Amino acid sequence: MIDLPSRKKVIREFQKKGGKIAAVLPIRYPRELFRAFGFLPVEVWGPPHADVTLGGSHLQSYTCDIVRNAVSFLLSGGLDRTDLILVPHTCDSLQGMGSVLLDFVHPKQKVLTLYHPRGVRKADFDFLTEELKRLCGELSDWTGGEPPPGAFWEAIYREETADRALARLYRDRELLGLSDREFYRIVRSREFLPAEDFIENEKKLARREKRSTSGVPILLSGIVPEPMDLFDEIETMGARVVADDLACGTRRLYKSGHSEDPFVRMAERLFSAPPDPTRGSPISERADHLKNLIRKSGAKGVLIYDVKFCEPELFDVPLLRKKLEAEGTPVNYVEFEMGKILSQQTLTRIEAFIEMIG
Ligand code: SF4
Repeated sequence: MIDLPSRKKVIREFQKKGGKIAAVLPIRYPRELFRAFGFLPVEVWGPPHADVTLGGSHLQSYTCDIVRNAVSFLLSGGLDRTDLILVPHTCDSLQGMGSVLLDFVHPKQKVLTLYHPRGVRKADFDFLTEELKRLCGELSDWTGGEPPPGAFWEAIYREETADRALARLYRDRELLGLSDREFYRIVRSREFLPAEDFIENEKKLARREKRSTSGVPILLSGIVPEPMDLFDEIETMGARVVADDLACGTRRLYKSGHSEDPFVRMAERLFSAPPDPTRGSPISERADHLKNLIRKSGAKGVLIYDVKFCEPELFDVPLLRKKLEAEGTPVNYVEFEMGKILSQQTLTRIEAFIEMIG
């Protein structure tokens, strides 16, 4: 097993070398653009241990826990070592967060936004390309310079290599001899490790002969599996995660681009991701994608583990469930509150589902 450094350590080491840190909210953004400007993007998915009372006073009561925890974390000083904050407009909650930071909280860090199209038409692609150019322009204005010659393409190729390494991890997951928790710790290190370190780590992971594994195979869907104890609990209940449709997992398996224009290439990559409710993907495409994952992985059921008040996920659930259950795959929807521990109610619902499909 690889010895992964903590986020704090990664941040300290990157800063020691003169680099700057960008705190990035979920889900999609051009990592390569930040690296070209000398920033390490470090993602903020909550975190689960934040004191949520701090963020609560700035947000509506029905704001999702990712945003509530992130604002709380910021207000508690958790992002003090970062230089800027990127809030992609992934959903209404994050759009609201961007406005709250810019209009009311005024953090010491520079706050930037990135608007996403909600479709995959040519107009959507062109819009995203223009947004990437706008973001680049804002970075350039704020830092007072352009990336050194070659830095852009170097960063693009490096991130593409890291994404291929991530894809190999998923392809070889049965050969790695890792528990689900260990596997997802490595997958999620893409959220904060420099791409070059992620690439090296993937190379170090030995592949072994496939062994017979026990446990009811399930597909895990949703935004983020927090707290990570979830995987230990699933294992204790006699199940294992054989595939995922997580926003922090396979929904960000980006392909390499083709264009020789760096902005078009970054847009190509972001557009290459699998169907996702936050991109407005049609239900039929999501259902077909999940059926494919189920067929390839042998999952006996789908667990949708959804952050409380995550509307994009919730909107898709009734139709998605109907389509998957019509083909014989049971679906369980569990909404959870993001905190340090899993509630007994959440665990009971997951356990009952595993017993039912086992
Ligand atoms: S959990 Fe859902 S609502 Fe919250 S930021 Fe993520 S996508 Fe948006």
